[in-house]
Amino acid sequence: MPAIVVSTRKTYGGYYQPRLHRIVVSWQAHREHGIEETLNTFRHEVAHIVHPHHRADFWALAYALGVTRRYASTPLVKRPARPPKYHYTCPVCSKQILRHRRLKLSSCASCDPRFNLKFVLRLIPRETTEPESCAPGK
Ligand SMILES: [Zn+2]
Ligand SMILES: [Zn+2]
Repeated sequence: MPAIVVSTRKTYGGYYQPRLHRIVVSWQAHREHGIEETLNTFRHEVAHIVHPHHRADFWALAYALGVTRRYASTPLVKRPARPPKYHYTCPVCSKQILRHRRLKLSSCASCDPRFNLKFVLRLIPRETTEPESCAPGK
């Protein structure tokens, strides 16, 4: 008997880990698409115990096990957008610029459309040092 694990990671669908002899199905997919989706994925992964590939003999076995659809459903819920990490401000007009990535030396485009040292954006340190979210899978 393989171990059967329900993963709360954001990974969708399921997978079989031969080394651990373990089938992993997605809690997220179950929540969004219900038991039929989970069973479909589960049967698909059971077939992978025998066939590691997706060739015809894999599908023959998968369908014999009751797989009804070839592909996992797609997630309904998109990941929420991350808030930008880096807050910059213009020393002159105090315009705020939010970025996901650290900027290289940049100047305020509102004050001067071309690069201008007078308007070099300053990184505002975050007042609160929120811990990085500890979502699994990182
Ligand atoms: Zn597969
Ligand atoms: Zn400015």
